[in-house]
Amino acid sequence: MRIAVAGIIHESNSFYSQPTELSDFSVHEGPELIDYYRQTFHEIAGYIAGAEQFDFELYPTLAAGATPAGPVTAEAFEHFVGKIIEQLKAAPKLDGILLALHGAMVAEGFPQADGEVARRVRAAMGDLPIAITHDYHANVPQQLIDAADILIIYKTNPHIDQPERGLQAAEILARQIRGEVKPKMALVKPEVLFNIYFHNTSVAPMQSLMQAAIDLESAEGILGCSVAGGYQYADVPYMGPSIVVIADGDEALAQREAERLGEAMWAIREQLKPVVPNPAEAVRLAMESEEAPVCLLDFGDNIGGGSSGDSTFVLEQLLKQGADGWVVSIWDAESAQACFAAGIGGQVALNVGGKTDDMHGPVLDVSGRVRTLHDGSYEEHERRHGGGRYFSQGPTAVIEVGAEGHKGLLLVNSERAYPNSIHQITCAGIQPEQQKILVAKGAVAPRAAYEPVCARLIEVASGGATAIDRSSDEYQLARKTLYEWR
Ligand SMILES: [Zn+2]
Repeated sequence: MRIAVAGIIHESNSFYSQPTELSDFSVHEGPELIDYYRQTFHEIAGYIAGAEQFDFELYPTLAAGATPAGPVTAEAFEHFVGKIIEQLKAAPKLDGILLALHGAMVAEGFPQADGEVARRVRAAMGDLPIAITHDYHANVPQQLIDAADILIIYKTNPHIDQPERGLQAAEILARQIRGEVKPKMALVKPEVLFNIYFHNTSVAPMQSLMQAAIDLESAEGILGCSVAGGYQYADVPYMGPSIVVIADGDEALAQREAERLGEAMWAIREQLKPVVPNPAEAVRLAMESEEAPVCLLDFGDNIGGGSSGDSTFVLEQLLKQGADGWVVSIWDAESAQACFAAGIGGQVALNVGGKTDDMHGPVLDVSGRVRTLHDGSYEEHERRHGGGRYFSQGPTAVIEVGAEGHKGLLLVNSERAYPNSIHQITCAGIQPEQQKILVAKGAVAPRAAYEPVCARLIEVASGGATAIDRSSDEYQLARKTLYEWR
C-alpha cells in the first residue's frame, strides 16, 4: 500500500496589511520531507508513525508552510498547488493521499483556499481516498467535506496533539483502503463566531465540548469527531466553528451526531462575550500582582494569528507606568541591526516597533544598553503549540532599558517569530523565572510555553491585526447571521 503525503499550511489574516508571498514559504520535498518532519510534533510526524504502524509506504511530495500573515498571493498558491498535483500525477501507483492543510488559508481569488486545494486534488486524482488534517483554527467549508473522504482536526489548543491526529487520519485511511471501513462525513456550522478568547480546550466552555467529541469517538459506528474553533481573522463565507463527524458507512448517523454537538455549542452562545482589560489596565494588574512572573498575552499582536509582531501598545504602557522586571519581544530588523553595530555593552537610542503599518501602535523612542547579541536560532524539545522543533528569529539583540526599579529587557529580532517556545527568550540569555512581567504576542498558543514558567497569565485586549473583537462592518464575506453580530 502506497500513500502520498502533501501539505500547504497557512493561516491567513484578512486584516493584516502584508500578503504572504512565495518567498515567505519554507518547503520540504521528497525524502527530506520525511527526515524533517519525523523529528517534530507535527501531524506529518503522525503520518510517518502511521506508515510504520499500519504497514504502508509513504510517498512524500511537497509540504510548504509560512508564518501566518496576510492572504497568500495567487502566484504562491498556484505554484504550490500546481507542484503538488504534478507530483501526485507523476507518482507510482497510489492507494491514497494524506494531505496536511491548515484550514484557514485565504488565497488571492480563493477565500476558502483549503477547499480549493482539496477540490483540485480530487479533480486530478479521481476517486483515490483522501484524508485531510486541519488545525483547530480551521474555517471548514462544505466544499472540502465533499472533496475529501476523511477530515481530522486537532483537539487541543495550544495544539499539542498533532502527531496523534496525523496518526488517527492515517489509521482511518489505511482501514478504508483495506476495505474495513467506509468513512461518511457530515459538517455542521453552528451560527456563532466563537471568539478566540474561548478557544482554550483545557477550560470551560470549550473543554466540555471537546470532551463530548472525544466521547463520541468511542461510540459504535463512529470513526472520528472533530470540533474546530474557527479563525475569526479570515473574512471568508465559512468563518466560524465547525463540527465534523465521520461515521462508518452511515451518513445519517454522522449528520445526527454533528447536529447534536452543534446544538450543544449553540446552547452556550450567551456565555461567549469576552471581558478583557486594555493594555493600560492589564499592565497595572501585572504591576500589582503579588505572584510573579505574570505573562501578558498580547491578543492584538498575535503573531501566530497573522499579526505584525511589532506592536507597541503594551510596551508603551510598561514604559509609561514605570514597570520593573519586564520582557518584551518586538520584530524590528532595523533596531536589531543598530544593536549589532553598537556591540555588546554599547548604548543605543532606537525607534522601536510600529513600523509595519498604522494598526500596531506608535514607533517608540527607546534607549538603553545592549546586553546580548545572538544569531536567533533556537530548538524546542518539548511539545509546544504547533509542534515545531527548529526555529529562527534572525539576528537578535536584548537591550537593557530604564533605571533601577523601572528596568526592562527589550528583545528585538530580525524575523517575525511567534512565542510558542520559551527558548525564543532563553536563547538570548533571558531567565524568565527571574522576571516580573513577560509579554507574549499571542492569544492561547503561548500558554504551552509560558504556563510552566509563569504564576499567572492575563489576557490583553490590545489593538492590531488580531484585535480580540471586530465589528461585523469590517467583514465582507463572513456570514452576518452569526449570533454575536445579530
Ligand atoms: Zn491554530
